[in-house]
Amino acid sequence: MEQKPFIPFSRPWIDETEIEAVSEVLASKWISTGGRVREFERAFAECLGVKHAIAVSSCTAALHLSLVVSGIGVGDEVITTPYTFTATAEAIRYVGAKPIFVDINSETLNIDVSKIEQAITSRTKAIMPVHIAGLPCDMDALREICKANNLVLIDDAAHAIPTEYNGQYIGTLGDLSCFSFYANKNMTTGEGGMITTNDDALAEPLRTMRLHGIDKDAWARQSKRSIWRYDITTEGYKYNMTDIQAAMGLCQLMKLYKQHERRQNFAQIYQSELAKFPQISTPFIPENPKEHAWHLYIIQLHTGTRDEFVESLREENIECSVHYIPLHLFEFYQKQYGYSVGDFPRAEEAFERVVSLPLHPGLSESDVHCVVDAIGEVLTS
Ligand SMILES: *Cc1c(COP(=O)(O)O)cnc(C)c1O
Repeated sequence: MEQKPFIPFSRPWIDETEIEAVSEVLASKWISTGGRVREFERAFAECLGVKHAIAVSSCTAALHLSLVVSGIGVGDEVITTPYTFTATAEAIRYVGAKPIFVDINSETLNIDVSKIEQAITSRTKAIMPVHIAGLPCDMDALREICKANNLVLIDDAAHAIPTEYNGQYIGTLGDLSCFSFYANKNMTTGEGGMITTNDDALAEPLRTMRLHGIDKDAWARQSKRSIWRYDITTEGYKYNMTDIQAAMGLCQLMKLYKQHERRQNFAQIYQSELAKFPQISTPFIPENPKEHAWHLYIIQLHTGTRDEFVESLREENIECSVHYIPLHLFEFYQKQYGYSVGDFPRAEEAFERVVSLPLHPGLSESDVHCVVDAIGEVLTS
């Protein structure tokens, strides 16, 4: 029997331009935070139309610093979704605050905004929504709730680049927005992250906090006469991005719309081809195609078991994934915060049914058709 080609779930979209840009940084001998990071921050801010972009070592670091700069700490509560990667809630724990989960909307898989107000207490300080798969949360409603209750809006935008919402990019609408450049994200620097904000009063301390609270980094000092002299002006963290990463990020930013076009095209093929299978529901699609980054293509299965389905596709040489195991089902979250099975039924129902299909710019249209054909075979066998 002829072996079918392996179709990976995700692959970074890297070519000679990244390899050359990174090599240039290595050859320059200035390999940590320097001019390339500045350049990347400026280009990123310009691309989204936001005043400040602060580059950091990961989205997890971005979420952590956003909570710190917002003054959130021990005894505080932060509302978020259980339907996310652990990093979202983990960052809340870093500052000693408690993640308060609110169930999701079954169709969008995003936090159910209509359930947020009943979760607000006198201890609530912030809301951290996640734009799952790249579909924006209801930012108008979230901003309104935050304004009415004096809460900080920190959106986890790890999936949401480029995502528009009513003509503006995600990254311009929260008090602080956090992006990820992890290997499998829509743009990558290997590891890396970015905080965006329009608030000068938040941007300034963030720039010092991310590198030990030092008022001037080495790049700023090297042009001055007293290279060694600096002050510590805020609490510090080791969360800076390197020029090696930033050089790669600049290349990835140049390809951002091109990769988005490819993801969008593949998502459209999936959407129309999978419509013929009543056993599957396809993801929610916004009217405006710009309002989805298509980081993930998540179907919901209404027949058989999800695990068997994923296993059968793997036998067809197709790699799928599952997003997400709800956080309240993990041992740690149950022990630490007292959550248990049954707390968030919409998230649990979704978890039982979801499968993330291969979606990345390195696929071809024929790969996507292969996935669809394999799904057809698995469903009829
Ligand atoms: C990937 C991801 C993160 C973490 O990003 P890192 O850059 O790896 O820290 C956070 N939240 C969500 C929703 C993610 O998918």
